Amino acid sequence: VGTTALTNVDLHDLARAARCYGVEQVFIVTPIEVQRGMVDEVVDHWVQGEGSRRHPRRAEAMRLVTPAVSLAEVCERVAALSSAAPLVAVTSAAMSGRITGYGELRQRMRCEPGSLVLVFGTGWGLAPEVIEAADLRLPALTRDPGYAGHGSPYNHLSVRAAAAIVLDRLLGERG
Ligand code: SAM
Repeated sequence: VGTTALTNVDLHDLARAARCYGVEQVFIVTPIEVQRGMVDEVVDHWVQGEGSRRHPRRAEAMRLVTPAVSLAEVCERVAALSSAAPLVAVTSAAMSGRITGYGELRQRMRCEPGSLVLVFGTGWGLAPEVIEAADLRLPALTRDPGYAGHGSPYNHLSVRAAAAIVLDRLLGERG
């Protein structure tokens, strides 16, 4: 199990998707202190620094972003905000085991109180133990099998594209 380096464009695109769909916080999880410092620097530039004067709407999104050491820390911080442990749902381009559909989770989010932590990976994806420990596994996003489309099947999305699609499935307007 390894960790990946921070990608600036991921911070921006995850923040903007989160802001569009009403997500409360975007945690960038890395055990590497220097990388967490970089998250703070980038966020600071857009929320308080030069970036905020030139693009105030970007600040609205970037202020949702915060670094964290581990998923356990994320869950503790979310629990502290909502006074109950959150449900944790994981994503992968190749999910297996007991899977909860997007429609079912969308319904639960509307009927049940509490917070949801959606977990996305980078690099080779989430570590197996993170997937094992999660409360829910979401289906891999794929092209409709009824639509031939172009080229052989391929579903390896960037984390920011996957996150935007998942947020739209769970929180987007239908129709
Ligand atoms: N092979 C890795 C995997 O299967 O998760 C690819 C990692 S991908 C670069 C970055 C992240 O985006 C994944 O960890 C997952 O969270 C999400 N992701 C990418 N493609 C996806 C798909 N087709 N369905 C669901 N999530 C996807």
